[in-house]
Amino acid sequence: MNSDNKKLKKIVKNSILPVLSFTLFLGTVCYLNSQNYGLALEYNGEQIATVSHEEVYEKANHMIMDQLTADGKSKVESKYSQIKLVPVNSADCCESPSEIKNKIIENSQDIFVEACGIYADDKLIGVGENEESLRKMVNEAIEEQKQLNPDKNIDIMENIEFKTGFFDPDDVESNVDLKNYLFNETEKELKYITSENETVSSIAEKFDVSEEVIREKNDIAGDKVMPHDIIMIMFKDSILHFEISQTIEEEVEISFETEERANNSQYKSWSKVVREGENGKETFTYEVKYDVHGRELSKTELSHAVVSEPINKIIEKGTKEEPEGFLWPVPYTHNITSPYGPRWGTIHRGIDIAAAGVLGTDIIASEGGVVEKAAHGSTGYGNHVVIKHAGAYSTLYGHCKELCVSAGQKVTKGQVIAKVGSTGDSTGPHLHFEIRVNGKQDNPQKYI
Ligand SMILES: [Zn+2]
Repeated sequence: MNSDNKKLKKIVKNSILPVLSFTLFLGTVCYLNSQNYGLALEYNGEQIATVSHEEVYEKANHMIMDQLTADGKSKVESKYSQIKLVPVNSADCCESPSEIKNKIIENSQDIFVEACGIYADDKLIGVGENEESLRKMVNEAIEEQKQLNPDKNIDIMENIEFKTGFFDPDDVESNVDLKNYLFNETEKELKYITSENETVSSIAEKFDVSEEVIREKNDIAGDKVMPHDIIMIMFKDSILHFEISQTIEEEVEISFETEERANNSQYKSWSKVVREGENGKETFTYEVKYDVHGRELSKTELSHAVVSEPINKIIEKGTKEEPEGFLWPVPYTHNITSPYGPRWGTIHRGIDIAAAGVLGTDIIASEGGVVEKAAHGSTGYGNHVVIKHAGAYSTLYGHCKELCVSAGQKVTKGQVIAKVGSTGDSTGPHLHFEIRVNGKQDNPQKYI
């Protein structure tokens, strides 16, 4: 590990530039132009080839140049041995440019070798033996990540390219070293200048690092930092980054709407839910991308589909204008058998409504309101309903055969609330009807 680190440091320091440029050679070539002579190419003090003309050598040189993955020159220039062209008898000529090229390469193994560079977003990040071995190394790293995330798709965030060319042999790494160097996270340091209103915790959140480490590293006691302070931030990072993606489905409810329908046979205060609403369902499919720490990088909608449409709620509402005042409570008959007032030595505090055949006919709410009481009983009023109206009014309906409403229920003017009966203290089927003002009975005939 230690030696790996050293080597990596060396790579970083040299910023691994491909070996470059024979420009220096050109400067030292002895210029000679004679038909009677060929030129011998001296390289590293050895005669390695002969050329008929300087241009042949230049062609070879260009061929090499074309294979150099250019970036910087200064590093390598000092390493080159000098090339000299010396005149020889033209009869001993001559090699072709490609032969010259191969000979220079053969004799330059200590300066440059043919190898393959791996580039991330156009930046050289490592050099390996050849493209095939580099691709294998990258695939192995992806496979290892797949083992850790079995049902997910693994990719590399950076755009990776491989380019074969000539590199400094010292920069060519083994696959094992390269894989560690490119994919393992190492401790990195960053100088951060604080701005107004920042704190240790906000900076920690921003860089996704621990507050403790920031405090320790920068010798800060609390949460407070001054603006324009330089803060050292330690974080872990790798050269290449895995992108782990997954397709997920999310279910979302679609809210139902409420439709209103007019009912012209009912009063305006009347309404009825004809159909209850039901929410629909929709599924969204997303591709979510994470880094190796599970941090979400992106979320893209791939598709969505309605699973079930919502069912709208339908409410019927009455449109008829409300009649003024109290309604007559028994539509079947308007016959009063016993009016409000003194009766048999006491006071009859309501009116009795009856006629032959009235038993079991409708009793309607004389005015809209809320049912205060819907009581069953065999004494006094018997089965009876009390409705509280707006203002200080309430109405009572006694001796009912059956009740159609219950306490707390809202009723509209004219709604059927009970059936005429003879329960409680009653001598025959009739409705005992009271109107109360502030709880005190008054003569209903004053109001109807
Ligand atoms: Zn009565």
